[in-house]
Formats: sequence, structure tokens, C-alpha cells
Amino acid sequence: MTSQPTRAPLVNADMSSDSEERVRRFLDHGPPMVLTGAGMSTDSGIPDYRGPDGTRRVTPMQHGEFVGSSAARQRYWARSFIGWQRFSAAAPNAGHRALAHLGTGGLIGPLVTQNVDGLHQRAGSRNVTELHGSLAEVVCLTCGTRESRERLQERVTAANPEFAERAVGSASDGSRVSSQIRPDGDIVLADEAVLDFVTPRCLVCGHDTVKPDVVFFGASVPAERVQRVYALTDAAPALLVLGSSLMVMSGLRFVKRAAARGIPIAIVTRGATRGDAYAALRLDESLSPLLVAVAGIRGLTQAAD
Ligand SMILES: [Zn+2]
Repeated sequence: MTSQPTRAPLVNADMSSDSEERVRRFLDHGPPMVLTGAGMSTDSGIPDYRGPDGTRRVTPMQHGEFVGSSAARQRYWARSFIGWQRFSAAAPNAGHRALAHLGTGGLIGPLVTQNVDGLHQRAGSRNVTELHGSLAEVVCLTCGTRESRERLQERVTAANPEFAERAVGSASDGSRVSSQIRPDGDIVLADEAVLDFVTPRCLVCGHDTVKPDVVFFGASVPAERVQRVYALTDAAPALLVLGSSLMVMSGLRFVKRAAARGIPIAIVTRGATRGDAYAALRLDESLSPLLVAVAGIRGLTQAAD
């Protein structure tokens, strides 16, 4: 167990010009490894699983559930099929672009994200590690064959020609299709709506075990990837956490690692995080305006494109 330093005073949103200065000073440690979470993408219209109080707003598909039955996979893919249409339309926000700008300028180091939306890369960031994988690819759990999500979406569309239209009107919240899209691209649909959905099958082995190449809740990040990010953490002069409540160990362990090595840590996230006790700088801020200010980019708006 790492000894926990005194909790840093929480700085509120009304001190934002001061916050900007504090982040700039933090960057004086040298280009930090940046760890981003769901709060990074909320300005792009992809909601967080958790509210600012840290409690889960929705229950995501669990790994064990997905691998455990064809019915669960049918349910997942039916919802994901509808959700993808909106998820894939999400665009990088000003915060993503500001980070890309900071990266190009050498002010930040490697980017490690818990998000599966690919928005950092689309904003122009290089050197991005996707801790939980990416929704852009699917992999067959039986034979390992990979396929792009885009291509799979075309196959699913062809196999379920009128599903999207029929699914409309069946959401349990009374809306035509639930407006509740999830960070993993899933969407809420009533169970009875998915019963005649044709689950995608692997192009090579024919099994219905195609899964998005992301780490579902209840599964572990591949060990090799964890080791790679530990190495990045050890090599970094500082660690900057953006938009993550650090509620799951997958991200928190890098904060603990940095703390154990005396690497300074800053956390900018709405609401409490599990890493607060380790942070030398702790800001409760909206990310996009702060990052735009820190990056010093004129003309970048705070809204998503
Ligand atoms: Zn296969």
C-alpha cells in the first residue's frame, strides 16, 4: 500500500484563469503522460457511465454475460447496431484538439486513454495507447479473425434490412429509440425488440462470437498492454489525468504507480476521483475550456464540431 499524501485542496470552476496557470506550472515538470477517461468525450455527445457523484447511471454489458450466451450477444449487437449510427457520428471536441496541439508542441508526452471512441486520434494526437481497445475493430473470440466495425455494420445492415425502422418505437422509456447512448456505443432497446435480430457471424469460422475489440466491464486489460503503460508511466516526468473518476483499477493503478515513484500527479475531472489523495494538483473543471486556454489556441471553440 502506498502512503497517501495530504489531499490537495480542490479548486473550483470559478477560479478557471488560476486553474489555467496551475496547469501551465504543472507542465513545467516536463511533458506528462496523459491519462484520459470518459469525461474527455462528453463534449462530443458521448455520455459518461457515471454521473459527477461517481455512481453508475447505466449498467453496461458484462464480459461474462457476453461470452456466456448467444442471447446476450444478440441483445448486445442489436443495441450496438442502432447505437453505432450515432456513436460513429461523434466528432472530436475542442479539448481533444487542444491536447493534439499540446502534443505537437511537445508539451505533453504519450496519451493513454480509457475511451474506445478513437476521438484523440481523429483530433490529430499521435502516440495514443487505447487501454480498453477500440470500437473501430471487432475480433472473433473463437478464431481471432479481425474485421473493421464499419464493414461489420454493413453486413449487419444487410442481414437486418428493416431492423432499425422496426426498433424505432420499442424503447422502454417510451421514446421512439432511446436517446441514451452509452460510452461503448451501446444503446437501450427493449428486450422484445431484439428477438428476431440476426447476430453477426465470423466470416471465417461462422460462429456468433464476434466481439468489439474492447475490454468489457468484468474483463481485464491485456497484461502486455498494462506493462507497456507502466513503462510509459515510469519514464514520464509527470502524470496528468483528464476526465476520469479512476473508479476502476485499469486507470487507478497507473496513478498509484506514479505516486509510488514520486512522479507528480495532476487530476482534472468533474467530481470526486479515487486518485484525489495522490494528486499534487486537483481541479474540478470542465475540460475543453481549460485545455483550450492552456494550449493557448485562439479560435478554438468549446463546442463539438
Ligand atoms: Zn471466427
